[in-house]
Amino acid sequence: MELDISKIRSKTGSEKSFDLEQPVEDITEKKIHFLQPVHFQGKIRNLDGTLYLEGEADILIERICDRCLSSYKQPLRIRIEENFYPEYKKIDDIDFFKTYNGNQLVLDQTVHDGVLLNIHINSICKEDCRGICPTCGKDLNEGSCSCKTETTDPRMEILKNLISEE
Ligand SMILES: [Zn+2]
Ligand SMILES: [Zn+2]
Repeated sequence: MELDISKIRSKTGSEKSFDLEQPVEDITEKKIHFLQPVHFQGKIRNLDGTLYLEGEADILIERICDRCLSSYKQPLRIRIEENFYPEYKKIDDIDFFKTYNGNQLVLDQTVHDGVLLNIHINSICKEDCRGICPTCGKDLNEGSCSCKTETTDPRMEILKNLISEE
């Protein structure tokens, strides 16, 4: 996703509104897939060389459930605010500063940060997801499997251990 900043990048005090609908790279390391182009609208201002962007993005992502391993959709509407500094101002070793250089501002990382701040770290398709059976691998949301449920009664465990020691 790119925003044209040619008209405001060298004029302090200038601003422009934007309304973009563009694809964004997937967040592969978190297994987050963007199902459709991101709709991002807002305003960007040049405040003494620093570009201050604020807006709202409509996003539809697909994630994999940690419990049952199936994919599910999650719509998001998120608020994004970010400062972009001219590249020459970049301080060594400080990576979280976002910079601009040239006439296009690339917004993929900004959208990624916004998504990661607005989703649960644990990816769960629904509150009561039953996950998969550890024995046969069946998705228990689709119904129970025929595996025997292991007993977890500690008294039974002690008995079992006593028997096996004989
Ligand atoms: Zn699930
Ligand atoms: Zn099973």
